Amino acid sequence: MREGHIYDMIVVGGGPGGYTAALYAARAGLDTLVLEKLSAGGQMALTEEIDNYPGFEDGIDGFTLAEKMQQQAERFGAKSEYAQVERMDLTAAPKVLETSEGTFYAKTVAVATGANPRELGLANEAALTGRGVAYCAACDGIRYKDKTVVVVGGGNSAAADAMLLSRIAKKVILVHRRDTLRATKIYHEPLMQAENIEFRWNSTVTELLHTDKLTGVRLKDVNTGMEAILSCDGVFISVGRKPATELVQGQLELDRSGYIIADETTRTNLPGVYAVGDVRTKMLRQVVTAVADGAAAVHMAEEYLAGAV
Ligand code: NAP
Repeated sequence: MREGHIYDMIVVGGGPGGYTAALYAARAGLDTLVLEKLSAGGQMALTEEIDNYPGFEDGIDGFTLAEKMQQQAERFGAKSEYAQVERMDLTAAPKVLETSEGTFYAKTVAVATGANPRELGLANEAALTGRGVAYCAACDGIRYKDKTVVVVGGGNSAAADAMLLSRIAKKVILVHRRDTLRATKIYHEPLMQAENIEFRWNSTVTELLHTDKLTGVRLKDVNTGMEAILSCDGVFISVGRKPATELVQGQLELDRSGYIIADETTRTNLPGVYAVGDVRTKMLRQVVTAVADGAAAVHMAEEYLAGAV
């Protein structure tokens, strides 16, 4: 780190949106830094197989795609720093980013911090995480080989997780609070046809049963109030995501769910600050839509740096 150096753009978060912003910025000749907490890829890096990102006809695993995106941005001169951002002043000129590895300054900032798995908020949920409670089937599914697992949720994540787990576990029980899935139709038939997937409709998990690790869950029927106990070795919680926007609270305008309010220009309420990828308000959160945001943010940043907006 060069003391007092002012970057043209700092990208916070090294997921697909972040590294696409870095690629476009570096290719445009902007002095660009990516601040990433752990390793490139964000949530994408935890995805076992990505089949809907064009250009990889046989699919690609998220970790490899993340590495490729990072290397591509770095080929044009983007730098990466592994640092936890602790505080940002996005109204200052230059903008100030205090991190675990020191303070960085930038003329523009792309916030690409993504969204993390939502929790159910049950007693002992955090304590049992890693001891039967999990949020990522692609990461932790293999631990449940030939075991019985519950998947909670009815969206695309829950459907994809149930499919993946059905190939590993002995039995998968999908628990959903409605009587139909929210997941896209493409998942319905394979889920219904899988011999080892059962469904518990109109049901919520009200309690995690455990000794030193999870032993089962208590279910409640949302219509009748009837309770039931399901014995299981693991529960995968796939009930959506919450945006990682704690750092920008009070500076950037957020919607009721906590997403940064920005349209496809990615501009936020602060000049020179852009919201890229899953962290912004948008209709569809996918790798393809995140990478599009990265390109748009740099287009807007170039105009801002040129004094055009
Ligand atoms: P989502 O679409 O928001 O679905 C969340 C699901 O969890 C819903 O079925 C919801 O129930 C349920 N839920 C929420 N809070 C709950 C609670 N407290 N207790 C019980 N159930 C609860 O989230 P997602 O499935 O994670 O998907 C997020 C985004 O990523 C979506 O845009 C999705 O399309 C995308 N995605 C795409 C793919 C793919 O295309 N292959 C794969 C994964 C994710 P209700 O239905 O009652 O609201």
